[in-house]
Amino acid sequence: MRFETDAIHAGQQPDPSTGAVVVPIYATSTYAQASPGEHQGFEYSRTGNPTRRALEIALAALEGIPEDGPGGAIATASGMGATAIIGYTLKPGDHVLLPNDAYGGTFRFFARVLTEQGVEWSAVDMTDARLVRTALRPATKVIWAETPTNPMLRLVDIAAVAGVAREAGAMFVVDNTFATPYLQRPLDLGADVVLHSTTKYLGGHSDVVGGALITRDPDLFARFEFLINAAGPIAGPFDAWLVLRGLKTLAVRMDRHTENAGRIARFLESHPGVMNVWYPGLESHPQHDLATRQMQGSGGMISFVPAGGPEAAGRIARSTELFFLAESLGGVESLIEIPAAMTHVSVDGTALEVPPDLIRLSVGIEHVEDLLEDLERALGG
Ligand SMILES: *Cc1c(COP(=O)(O)O)cnc(C)c1O
Repeated sequence: MRFETDAIHAGQQPDPSTGAVVVPIYATSTYAQASPGEHQGFEYSRTGNPTRRALEIALAALEGIPEDGPGGAIATASGMGATAIIGYTLKPGDHVLLPNDAYGGTFRFFARVLTEQGVEWSAVDMTDARLVRTALRPATKVIWAETPTNPMLRLVDIAAVAGVAREAGAMFVVDNTFATPYLQRPLDLGADVVLHSTTKYLGGHSDVVGGALITRDPDLFARFEFLINAAGPIAGPFDAWLVLRGLKTLAVRMDRHTENAGRIARFLESHPGVMNVWYPGLESHPQHDLATRQMQGSGGMISFVPAGGPEAAGRIARSTELFFLAESLGGVESLIEIPAAMTHVSVDGTALEVPPDLIRLSVGIEHVEDLLEDLERALGG
């Protein structure tokens, strides 16, 4: 099936016992067995739960993996829970290559948690695959990329870095949270693993925290299934249900996010009170060609620097009314934030530091004229 159809049907057949067209929230920890070990595929809800299973089938389908594999998805308690599963595949002395522009929590996990376990890391500019090759070490086991990056909206050439990872025998993980599988399919471009914070666009309504790992590699998938059961950071049935509901409208939401963000990026670019705008859909974006090749649309995230420094940025972020001043992204409502003071405090003073006057927008699906008027008012002062 095509994307929009899979989003609504993959893993979501009517409930066999009642005909309910929506997958129920299976709020149960355990399952009755006919005789010891004889059950209908579920025995304990950390190991497997029908609501979570439906979500996992749907997530895998959207990244291009049929229900019977090879590979599949695991749905985790949060995006960081998915990152932690990757962490459990590493042992002391292993090295992780991170991008120099990444979600702050990813950086914090490797720099402050896994280093305590003897795992080494370094950061490199992933926008250049040659630099990635130079930064490899014999112990490099994981290459981690985010594209578009957060918050600088740089792009990583997934196919090029996948080539480097393959030569090095390293696992190539792509955090696809910003693009979603509707706009970008990293596994088709050679990535080994896709990671999502489903808290963002996949859930889409700012009402749930969740994550996922998706891979086509059957051995890696078996390892992930073992680890999530062994360590326990699973998505609960109600959370899984909310994400599953979000997925159904992902395609139409992403179309509107992209349309609105395109209008707003062009508005900001021509505004005298704005110094710089980063949006992959703008021709002025240094990697606009790559965006056209690698993505089926540029999504809803925009970063910009206003004239007047951090003080002006703070004033603008406080003065919008429709754009709520808040962390997170990817919901139907528009958000504004200052990464250096909010989402990216943990990268302060490191190679991943972001400009103090940078503003990040998560453009929602409200009427674009209302959003433009809100920004015009805030920028006008
Ligand atoms: C939010 C986010 C994460 C972490 O996900 P949580 O669901 O908050 O744990 C990871 N990567 C990116 C790009 C994110 O935006």
